[in-house]
Amino acid sequence: MIRRALFALVLVCAPTAAVGDETSATDKLRILYSTRFTFTDDGLPLVTVEIMSGRSDIHLRARGGLTVRPDGAGGSAIESDGGEAWTITVEGARPAVLQDWTVVETLAPDDATGVTAALARWKGRGFEPRTFEIGTVFGVDGEVIDTRELRIAVEPVAAGKGGARSAEIARRFGVATSVQQDMVRRPSGTIVARSGTTTIRNPAVLWFQPRRAGETIAVADVPTGTGGSQLETGTEDRRYWGAVYVTLDHDGALVAANAVSEDKLLAGLVPAEMYPDAPPAALAAQAIAARTELLQKIGRRNLTDPFLLCSTQQCQVYAGAGKEDPRTTRAIEATRGMVLLRDGGGLVDIRYSASCGGHGEDNDAIWGGEPDPSLRGRSDTQAGGMSRITDDNLEAFLDGGGDAWCAKGKQGKGKFRWTETVTASELTTRVATEYPEVGRVKQLSARQRGVSGRIGVLAIRGDKGNVEVTGDLHIRRLLGGLKSTLFEVKREGERFVFRGAGFGHGVGMCQLGAIGMATAGRPHEQILAHYYRGSHLHRLY
Ligand SMILES: [Zn+2]
Repeated sequence: MIRRALFALVLVCAPTAAVGDETSATDKLRILYSTRFTFTDDGLPLVTVEIMSGRSDIHLRARGGLTVRPDGAGGSAIESDGGEAWTITVEGARPAVLQDWTVVETLAPDDATGVTAALARWKGRGFEPRTFEIGTVFGVDGEVIDTRELRIAVEPVAAGKGGARSAEIARRFGVATSVQQDMVRRPSGTIVARSGTTTIRNPAVLWFQPRRAGETIAVADVPTGTGGSQLETGTEDRRYWGAVYVTLDHDGALVAANAVSEDKLLAGLVPAEMYPDAPPAALAAQAIAARTELLQKIGRRNLTDPFLLCSTQQCQVYAGAGKEDPRTTRAIEATRGMVLLRDGGGLVDIRYSASCGGHGEDNDAIWGGEPDPSLRGRSDTQAGGMSRITDDNLEAFLDGGGDAWCAKGKQGKGKFRWTETVTASELTTRVATEYPEVGRVKQLSARQRGVSGRIGVLAIRGDKGNVEVTGDLHIRRLLGGLKSTLFEVKREGERFVFRGAGFGHGVGMCQLGAIGMATAGRPHEQILAHYYRGSHLHRLY
């Protein structure tokens, strides 16, 4: 199956301009655009992460200089005749050609009967369907990790027009649809690197490595709106371990990406995800969760990009070298290769949030889709606790909960239990930005709650009309940025008082609860088993 998918990829990218070194350029790009990853000499996955895209020039430097490898590791090496800095530009750039397809069904990769039936079904409806395989499969020490799925897609249209077409097909056939992008033609162009009097030209890509071992590569003017600092805008110089390559994005502009080993990547990520002064068992649990999440994402996102992961919040928060903390780095080393597998096989779909508030939530209550046996919400206590939070017991739950794992510790202050007061006129203004038909807000009530008491459907009654609002993050933002949807709301004169619990969606691991368990002497195995049911640890590499 995989071999067939890769073969299809080669065929798709074949019709490029015939210039000198185009075959090898196509080959090099095929590797960058593939959904697979390779392993370092050390036996760790080598992951490619976007640094920045859409550039006309990129500036790199390293103490002691940089080695340029047109063909990546193992190929010929070129060094500058002077200086440590390189400027990279592009000549003769040609953008990629992309198409949007509408995904109408998703199947397991080994479901041949299902695929045949689905293709016949959509042919019968007058389409010319095709399959896309996403995800990746890799085997280490006899364990095969398979994150693939097969998507049946129809109706290719020009990039950007897929959303409307997808919605139309969803309405017409009563199915859930999504947009899948396909690259019909890769971008092309010559990458030009200059340092002193040295100039290097290579089709499609150039690789850079520090000449001295243990040095990082500095990349100038990286937008700070990526990699964990979304609130700031501007640029800064950032440093990266491993190699940096410069290639072309969809528009034919330059993209810089980092080829970095898994341990260095996690060491840059985990300190942004959990307080480095948390107990070692909590950091170990977070390290394993982050590793599992990383492997789960590879090959399932950025399918038409020349890297495996993008650097923004939606993919993974990564801002390069210099963000490491020795305590989280130790936790990553101590759990080398450890991932969380479902008892039925495959990686656990890792989710976590800061504080569950004393009760975890079901995945499907927050994001819809199929219930995941590893992501069932339950009481975050050693034993007992309320099995389901409802309108009837919510008040008692909010008053109590002192025995929850996340109730303890200074870091939970204001997250385990909280109160927010909003005036009626403020709330009216906020609601009007999206629902002007409501008018002055009179009353808020929970129409539906998940197992943790988080509100799935919120009814808003106004003097001009009523509306029902869905979506965890949507509800929280609409009401002015509440910490969670696990709240009760009372009207007191001209004010609405929200009394709530938890910070975040509450699905999967409760990070403050993990810290509470670790503080009480629980090892990381018990922490992960508590938050991800029906799972076990496995050392992959
Ligand atoms: Zn909790």
